[in-house]
Amino acid sequence: MVRVDHAVSSGTFSLDGETFDVDNNIWVVGDDTECVVIDAPHSVGDIMAVVGGRTVKAILLTHAHDDHCRVAPALRERVGAPIMLHPDDRPLWELTHTDHLWDVDLADGFEVAVADGTLRAVHTPGHAPGAVCFHAPDLGCVFTGDTLFQGGPGATGRSFSDEDQIKKSIRARLLSLPGDTVVHTGHGDDTTIGAEQANLD
Ligand SMILES: [Zn+2]
Repeated sequence: MVRVDHAVSSGTFSLDGETFDVDNNIWVVGDDTECVVIDAPHSVGDIMAVVGGRTVKAILLTHAHDDHCRVAPALRERVGAPIMLHPDDRPLWELTHTDHLWDVDLADGFEVAVADGTLRAVHTPGHAPGAVCFHAPDLGCVFTGDTLFQGGPGATGRSFSDEDQIKKSIRARLLSLPGDTVVHTGHGDDTTIGAEQANLD
């Protein structure tokens, strides 16, 4: 049975010449045999502690801010799984990784099968141009990266972000999911689509 496992990893986020301490969620979706990893923040060891002995089928990136993709190439080296990213995040990716690329371009509607479940990519530009959420209908949850948090939309104050666009993305693509869908965020606590509907109105 497909399930979600989770850990928190600490490190830094840098953009526009400033650096902040951040705690990132690591999400691993799978069963006892295989899994996919959502985001590769600060430490391969922190991720492997959640993965255990399972086969990693893919490294899915919600976006290419350095606190979400920094150890993706090192994790790929370790587990031999492809890195998947929406190509619109190339300018952000290149701020962190100049000598590696990702392997698979994510597009809206792209599906990744893992265990007896499926993750479906939902392109939600705004926090980043290539920001993607991963909806898992079998699990009744969605992994939103930095697009939607408990309390509202992700930050749009820095380069490559767009406030109007993130609100449009959330309304059109996330609030249309069932209200009891659990939202697993890139930082901090879970919420639900229904609770955030209220916060956006
Ligand atoms: Zn971000």
